Amino acid sequence: MSQLHNIDADVVVIGGGLSGVCAAIAAARHGAKTILVQDRPVLGGNASSEVRVHVCGADCSGGRPHARESGLLEEFRLEEAVRNPQRSATMHDLVLWEFATREPNITLYLNTICHGVEINDSPLPIAGQRPAREGGWGGRAVAAALCSRESTEDRFRFGAKVFIDCTGDGRLGAEAGADFAYGREGKDEYGEPHAQGPDRKTMGSSLMWCARDTGVPVKFTPPPWAHVFVTDEDLPHRGHLELAHGHWWVEYGGELDIVKDAEAIRDHLLACMMGVWDHIKNRGEHGAANWVLDWFGFVPGKRESRRLLGDIVLTENDLIMNAQFPDSVCHGGWGIDTHPPGGIHSPEPPCTFIHPTEVYGIPLRALYSRNIANLFMAGRDASCTHMAMASTRVAATGAVMGQAVGTAAAMCAAKGCLPREVASGHIVELQQQLLKDDLFIPGVAAADPANLARGAKVIASSALPGCSPENVTNGVTRQRGEQTNQWTSDPADPQPWIMLEFDGPKPIREVQLIFDTGFARPLTFTHSDPFNARIIRGPQPETVRAYRVEGRVDGQWQTVAEVRDNYQRVRMHEANVEADAVRLTVWATNGEASARVYEVRLG
Ligand SMILES: Cc1cc2nc3c(=O)[nH]c(=O)nc-3n(C[C@H](O)[C@H](O)[C@H](O)COP(=O)(O)OP(=O)(O)OC[C@H]3O[C@@H](n4cnc5c(N)ncnc54)[C@H](O)[C@@H]3O)c2cc1C
Repeated sequence: MSQLHNIDADVVVIGGGLSGVCAAIAAARHGAKTILVQDRPVLGGNASSEVRVHVCGADCSGGRPHARESGLLEEFRLEEAVRNPQRSATMHDLVLWEFATREPNITLYLNTICHGVEINDSPLPIAGQRPAREGGWGGRAVAAALCSRESTEDRFRFGAKVFIDCTGDGRLGAEAGADFAYGREGKDEYGEPHAQGPDRKTMGSSLMWCARDTGVPVKFTPPPWAHVFVTDEDLPHRGHLELAHGHWWVEYGGELDIVKDAEAIRDHLLACMMGVWDHIKNRGEHGAANWVLDWFGFVPGKRESRRLLGDIVLTENDLIMNAQFPDSVCHGGWGIDTHPPGGIHSPEPPCTFIHPTEVYGIPLRALYSRNIANLFMAGRDASCTHMAMASTRVAATGAVMGQAVGTAAAMCAAKGCLPREVASGHIVELQQQLLKDDLFIPGVAAADPANLARGAKVIASSALPGCSPENVTNGVTRQRGEQTNQWTSDPADPQPWIMLEFDGPKPIREVQLIFDTGFARPLTFTHSDPFNARIIRGPQPETVRAYRVEGRVDGQWQTVAEVRDNYQRVRMHEANVEADAVRLTVWATNGEASARVYEVRLG
């Protein structure tokens, strides 16, 4: 018998793709009791073992060095690269599941679908809290997400102060009556030069595969219902020499309703995928005689669906102008990567790229609903035109959006304010917190007055030209243009150290370090062998591995922390010293001769 459970939290996140996982972890780490609801058995969305899309972002898979997303996504990628050298898709799922479930403030509901909402039309959506300004909260709010889990015959009413829609489909928002866009805008609507509408067409969904070389010839008999692609002319512009990982252009559904026709789209995609493999195996020479399909998806990866509308709608023009907003909270940079709605049956090239020359900022105003007062969104369903979404949709950009809104949601819960009020009244505080948590915000440097390191004199045992010790307090934690923004010791220095010195003793409660994890290279989990050849699956050689942190108290050095096996970019150490200097001594890296440090923060 199904039972109804009434459960309250501070923040409810619906959708456990990378955007949802990062949103939930960020909210939880900032003290919010957080519920994460995912309708399928594993986390990761399109990046999970069910779909197997590799995660790309602003560094354009290595094409734009030093633009890689940092923060929670980098923490996950570094751990996954070390824990999963075998490139197992299910190990990737497991590491992501651990990443979410080890947070004490997260309760994860897998196999649980959100199918409705309870609306609060009163001007006080946050129970017991007063509006921050005259006129009340201004509008409709979500009181609860209504969910069910068939595996246990349970129904849930998840109440919360703030909700985050990371469903990709904007399902939570649509159920709540949030304004949304669907399809492609015309040129007139936002003045976008390459707008392709107006119409209700989208990019299609896709099924991927994994294949392997058995070393001996193996036949493939296509099912009778497989689509037939007789010659390469039937697959125009669609190169298919890579065999190990399926082709994203096995795409369909952009001329249908991507939600309502999802089941029919899957069936047609299966026929197309089998047809492409039949073409590779049986129709022309593709070097595939010994290759077999090892896995293929039954869950179509959706690219595009509803886009919930915020106080700003991000456009092609913003991306091309490398926009920086006063309320930027994270960055994007993937090309504007549009696909013909006809997908695999279109004679056009399967994608067209317009590349922003630099990364762009994403404003918080594009990450909350304009008419549902307590609703944030992140990922594919953020407030963008079709053109802008063709860039922001990539999974790494969704992940940094997720971290930004999760942090903002925790702030709403703690302060009793609404998303819009964070953008208008607390944005500097939010940005500084996000920078501390290692997100990158174009045009915004860390300037946290609580960071004691900013007032310190910085010296080091040695430094390469352009990589001075003072860089560790300049507030920028990655290379920008010619500025390395890091301290790099001389490779001949046998035991490099860096010291931050004060005029007198300071109360040091925590020491945060940001190391180099090789942003000049791509780092992601991929089934593509050529892409993987450019990636190091393990600790990144630039990263400091073994080190000691000390505080100088009454002229004596006291150890704050000793670490021998680091591979992470951000390390936080609790301290409890009244010290007039803090020293970091580097004993070893994961491969390189120099010690490389972007930031030392003292709080
Ligand atoms: C074939 C293909 C190739 C692509 N190639 C790339 C690429 O190379 N690199 C790249 O970075 N991006 C690529 N993309 C885009 C990228 O995968 C997505 O845009 C990205 O996954 C978006 O992340 P998300 O978290 O917003 O959504 P998703 O990954 O779609 O996650 C949303 C999650 O929410 C869950 N959900 C939905 N509705 C509900 C509900 N009602 N209740 C509970 N849970 C729900 C879904 O099960 C899903 O797990 C590609 C996409 C496709 C389809």
